[in-house]
Amino acid sequence: MTSIPDAKAPADEVVLEAIGLTKHFPVRRRLRDLFSNRHDAVHAVDDVNLTLRRGQVVALVGESGSGKSTVARLLAQLYPRTGGDIRLHGASTRVKAGAAFRRYCARVQMIFQDPFASLNPVHTIRYHLTRSLKVHGNAGSTDAELEQALHTLLERVALTPPERYLDKFPHELSGGQRQRVAIARALGAEPEALLADEPVSMLDVSIRLGILNLLRDLKERLNLAILYITHDIASARYFADQTMVMYAGRMVEGGDSETVTQSPAHPYTRLLIESAPDPDRLTGVSDAASPKDNGEPPSLIRPPSGCRFHPRCPSAMPRCSTDLPVPLQIGDSPGHWAACWLYDTEEVAK
Ligand code: SF4
Repeated sequence: MTSIPDAKAPADEVVLEAIGLTKHFPVRRRLRDLFSNRHDAVHAVDDVNLTLRRGQVVALVGESGSGKSTVARLLAQLYPRTGGDIRLHGASTRVKAGAAFRRYCARVQMIFQDPFASLNPVHTIRYHLTRSLKVHGNAGSTDAELEQALHTLLERVALTPPERYLDKFPHELSGGQRQRVAIARALGAEPEALLADEPVSMLDVSIRLGILNLLRDLKERLNLAILYITHDIASARYFADQTMVMYAGRMVEGGDSETVTQSPAHPYTRLLIESAPDPDRLTGVSDAASPKDNGEPPSLIRPPSGCRFHPRCPSAMPRCSTDLPVPLQIGDSPGHWAACWLYDTEEVAK
């Protein structure tokens, strides 16, 4: 039978950290490039720092192609990293396959965007959950213990009574129910951290809230650390304790969710908030630095020099196209920072 994993571990305990995490994907060379020394790469993630703590949700927000899903896959060790470090409980970790990968997966589980694609259509819910329990050694030693563990998993994701769902196939369930099964399967490993990659974006609007509420309930009851990847900053405000904003492979702003969403500092965060259908958003957003033109995200093969947002930024200054902005503290809000030269005190004094 599955137990509640380390529910008594101290809240706020650091589970997983990314330090200077970097991922460049090499681009296949064209014929004409074979005769040059050019080695192009997609700069998908550059120098990302992130901390996941027990009992907390961190939202990683950005538009498509910003690198947020790549960060999740790097943290899940599905991709090898180009640079930086991933630390599990403070220990540098790099696993590729085999028993070490399974041990890592038992502690860090991923939930994917498309619950239908992540479940094998020819197998029942019982098969999917049993496999997870057995792979991670949580199936008990008797058939009765396995059955009890299966019931516990489905009850934990509010698919009750469990016997109604256990022998169904994925196509017999709704999208929301499939995503609940995918979450139950992840819980079968008794993880400490969940990496949820756009877990509600493919679901009907009417059932998204139910899945977010379920994840929040699991965070509290199981003391889980959750990374919530989304392009919807309004849902981050509702669901996450901390919100980090990514643009073109780099972190541009971070802080507690209320502050980042109500008093955004970085011009790109303001753009995201102005694009979000949130009726409350107007209260805390200044019009002064609203981007005039949404524009397009830049190529990550040759990203813009300096601040990667400078071609789209209405507040861009000459140094923005040459100097890479460093994270700067915003006002008196503890933990609120933005990588933007607007907040450089020397720049302000000029
Ligand atoms: Fe805009 Fe410059 Fe700030 Fe980048 S550093 S967001 S270009 S003002």
